[in-house]
Amino acid sequence: MKILVINAGSSSIKYQMLDMTDESVMASGLVERIGEPSGAVSYKAFPDTDNECKTTLEQPIPEHETGMKLVIDLLIHPEKGVIKDLKEIGAVGHRIVHGGDKFHAPTVVTDEVEQAIEDTILMAPLHNPAHLAGIRTAKRFFPDVPQVVVFDTAFHQTMPPEAYMYAMPYEMYEELRLRRYGAHGTSHKYVAGEAARLLGKQPEECNLITLHLGNGCSMSAVKGGECVDTSMGLTPLAGLIMGTRCGDIDPAVYAFLERAKGLKLSEIDMIMNKKSGLLGLCGMNDMRDIHAAVEKGDEKAELALNMVAYRTRKYIGSYLAALEGKVDAIVFTAGIGENDDIARAMSVQGLEALGISIDQEKNAGRVKEPRAVHADDSRVQIWVIPTNEELEIARQTRELVAG
Ligand code: AMP
Repeated sequence: MKILVINAGSSSIKYQMLDMTDESVMASGLVERIGEPSGAVSYKAFPDTDNECKTTLEQPIPEHETGMKLVIDLLIHPEKGVIKDLKEIGAVGHRIVHGGDKFHAPTVVTDEVEQAIEDTILMAPLHNPAHLAGIRTAKRFFPDVPQVVVFDTAFHQTMPPEAYMYAMPYEMYEELRLRRYGAHGTSHKYVAGEAARLLGKQPEECNLITLHLGNGCSMSAVKGGECVDTSMGLTPLAGLIMGTRCGDIDPAVYAFLERAKGLKLSEIDMIMNKKSGLLGLCGMNDMRDIHAAVEKGDEKAELALNMVAYRTRKYIGSYLAALEGKVDAIVFTAGIGENDDIARAMSVQGLEALGISIDQEKNAGRVKEPRAVHADDSRVQIWVIPTNEELEIARQTRELVAG
């Protein structure tokens, strides 16, 4: 079965077409700057096994529908295309950031499902409207193909109430579903599944701490294949220190900033999401720049790096407790987790007494393949596993559609 995976943002569509007979990527790319004066479509495809084709189109793309049409024209293009007919596509899988507490699993799109995604807009005001635009566009182009939605929040729906409830008036939970939901669930699920496979176990047989460290960062405690806690909250602002987000902070900071500087809630929200984290601390949000600055003696960059590592270590400690000390492996993934050996080493530094020790040599450098980086005597294994959210969406889509 061939599956088209779509991740529609407010001004972009990331897409990937996979042949699920061998899980190979047939084509992938990005539609960018939708609604802006100059748009672009990038397209990388393998029309046949030893022939790679790369194309970029530059033109105004007023809305998602035009962007999707340009992608489809490339997919069925006589030379550049990878399919002859749109009928070859067996299903479309959509990434959805927030499913509230209604969705625990991938779901075929119906009017009710669309309505439920719409009802969750308050929790993901930027993402969910864009996802709906993606679904509606795909439905127009592929009216007879099952559209499947895969939620970033679904993997975390197994958390017990003591992990997901906030200590706020209970009516707020009842009325507004105010609680922890988490994010990056598709990535956590993918690497947890891969880790189990690499450990030679069934997912039910292993406990893991998964670290998705990219521009956004989150961690999950995974017990027997199910998430029991995660660091992001109602929104992706909570938890670890990120590229531009502050992560955990005293909630009274909102009131303080309003009193001290007369800032509006929306302004503080913007500062905490877009101007804080690594960027707020040292003016840079790319770990590569931060390491280069630390080398040159930049003290703020060093503080930022130390803070990121310290927060991560504290979360590892708390998830060890959540998993009652029984952890088979710690798994690093995403941009920083996969590529930054210094950040990995600092995240587990000093945890030897907890049975966690990294092997500096195995950890050094960058490799595309999954690999173990723990010391021989480490009770808890440490793995670096590249994430693949598109493949996870395609797998879940196929499973649902194939029955
Ligand atoms: P992601 O959101 O998963 O795409 O991750 C993006 C982030 O990964 C960037 O902002 C960098 O901080 C980090 N990153 C990517 N490549 C490297 C690298 N080679 N070394 C250190 N950090 C990296």
